[in-house]
Amino acid sequence: MIREFVNCLENGEDISKTDLLYILKNYKKEEQYIKKKAREITDKIYGKKVYIRGLIEVSNICKNNCFYCGIRRENKNLERYRLSKKEILDCCENGYVLGFRTFVLQGGEDEYYTDKILVDIVSSIKQKYPDCAITLSLGEREKSSYKELRAAGADRYLLRHETATQNHYRKLHPKEMSWEHRIQCLEWLKEFGYQVGCGFMVGSPFQTYENLIEELLFIKKMQPAMVGIGPFLSHKDTPFATKENGNLDITLLLLSLIRIMNKNVLLPATTALATLDPKGRELGILAGANVVMPNLSPVVHRKKYALYDGKACMGSEAAESLVLLEETLNGIGYHTVVDRGDVILRETFRSIDLK
Ligand code: SAH
Repeated sequence: MIREFVNCLENGEDISKTDLLYILKNYKKEEQYIKKKAREITDKIYGKKVYIRGLIEVSNICKNNCFYCGIRRENKNLERYRLSKKEILDCCENGYVLGFRTFVLQGGEDEYYTDKILVDIVSSIKQKYPDCAITLSLGEREKSSYKELRAAGADRYLLRHETATQNHYRKLHPKEMSWEHRIQCLEWLKEFGYQVGCGFMVGSPFQTYENLIEELLFIKKMQPAMVGIGPFLSHKDTPFATKENGNLDITLLLLSLIRIMNKNVLLPATTALATLDPKGRELGILAGANVVMPNLSPVVHRKKYALYDGKACMGSEAAESLVLLEETLNGIGYHTVVDRGDVILRETFRSIDLK
């Protein structure tokens, strides 16, 4: 049964919610089959290449108060920081030498970063490194802001939708935040020609199997260039301090299903996955991921960008330890590349035999 359902998904056919639910609840029997399918698809499109992104965590100051997040406004036990333009450019310089050709600027919704300041930062990076891609992940902004940043040179934008179900969104966020607005932002970003990334946490509090099905359908419908998923991990200074962490095997299953349903998508094995399990990153790659995002932030600030407890950011998660990462990936038959690593469009791989 499961094999049949998965083969339908592979052929781009829709299967019913009941069938998707059946996969989610009974995947254990066919876990290896599903992973192998996902990996085969990835290999056909992206080969044995793993794309690397230098992650620069620009600020842990945030005006929002998401119940799950360690850098939420009301967490008073956190030393706050923000990087200056010079510090960000220094990170890029280090990263470029190490072989990164994508820089991801991620941060809390810090009002210091006005459009003017960000346009200056983005265009300066672009000017200095015209061969690099810039990804922004700075949360919800005005429509005009996304437009200006795109014009300044930003290529991609990561904005996880967090959950495809309104009712679930309400349980994860305070009243002043809105699901509709987040989805609206994703639509604007698409409209302005960004390579857009959405995503969600696996095992976030109150998430049901039905919610997970909605995630899969939402992503398929949206056709994003990137999908960021990782396990929910609790943070001690949040309202969700005592909630259970997300599950490794289900996260891997979802990575595989996302790959099978959205063949060419750029899919990172996230830091949260590496934090949940020391082998998380390799397991993610073997389940169909093809991107890793080593940490390029200044070492003194790294621990302070604490979305959850126990964040992995030193060992092979650190940009300086790229050699370690390379060894680990070589061990499973993969290698990193010095490349912007853009999404390979459907038109290009239509000729590849994907069945
Ligand atoms: N402010 C930006 C960046 C947020 S941090 C934005 O709004 O997009 C990037 C992602 O980390 C979030 O989208 C969320 O899905 C994830 N995250 C936050 N808290 C987490 C937690 N406790 N466990 C796992 N992932 C978390």
